[in-house]
Amino acid sequence: MSKVIDRNDIEMLVRRHLQDLGMDSEAIPKKEYIVAANWKMNMTDKETRKFLEEMKGVNIAEHIRVMIFPPYPYLYLFRDMLRYERIAYGAQDVAKEEKGAYTGEVSAAMLGDMGCPLTLVGHSERRSYYGDTSEIVAKKAKAALEHQITPMICIGETLEERKSHRYEQVLKEQLDAVYGELKDQVKDCLIAYEPVWAIGTGVIPTLKEISETHEYIHQVLVSYGVLAEKIRILYGGSVNAGNVRDIASVKYVNGFLIGGASLKADSFGNIIRLASEV
Ligand code: PEP
Repeated sequence: MSKVIDRNDIEMLVRRHLQDLGMDSEAIPKKEYIVAANWKMNMTDKETRKFLEEMKGVNIAEHIRVMIFPPYPYLYLFRDMLRYERIAYGAQDVAKEEKGAYTGEVSAAMLGDMGCPLTLVGHSERRSYYGDTSEIVAKKAKAALEHQITPMICIGETLEERKSHRYEQVLKEQLDAVYGELKDQVKDCLIAYEPVWAIGTGVIPTLKEISETHEYIHQVLVSYGVLAEKIRILYGGSVNAGNVRDIASVKYVNGFLIGGASLKADSFGNIIRLASEV
């Protein structure tokens, strides 16, 4: 695949040039990062309210976008308590069907109806415990987009796939399924690259591995045309205050999807602060 020059390359060149000239490189807008929390099946009503109260004290820099994905019952708390805050919220999953006899499912129409702007789809826990194939994930993303909900599509390889060097093929298959269903709408999605072996394990890939994999994902997206090179690619898997700055410095990393370290407002707020300093 051909090498593409993107906004990051240009920014870096301009910044260096301004520094060489002894000029203020701070005038250039900082790279935007998304800092997203996946709460999974955690938290209570009381804990959620406390978290949201505490988040009011967190300073969110202009170039940082915060997103939180709580369990369904707390979405209303987010909508009502966050109305004037700079934090977006979303569901952790969505049905691929529009409506009807699908007990236990929540449709994109329902999420859209309550004003929910985002949803995760294809988290590895949904793929491995609930049988979400890449085709199902793609249909869920499509259903979300039909109701003006931005899907954050999670992709990632298992340890075995990484070790046997099949991870590129796996990621491409996951992305191709999405592109096959969405075509040019793919540009309206967010991608979260989450190596399955890094989720909840405390193990993260090396920065080189993150860099190579994000670049690979970027290039697959570019190969679709349709402005897909503009899609933001988040990294997820054992992100915490100790590693967020290093990961943020990797090219093509546009943000983070954070599980365990997002459950306490002080820890999550600290990560938001550290990401904003990069
Ligand atoms: C996740 O499940 O999306 C995740 C990234 O979890 P953790 O940060 O706990 O590894």
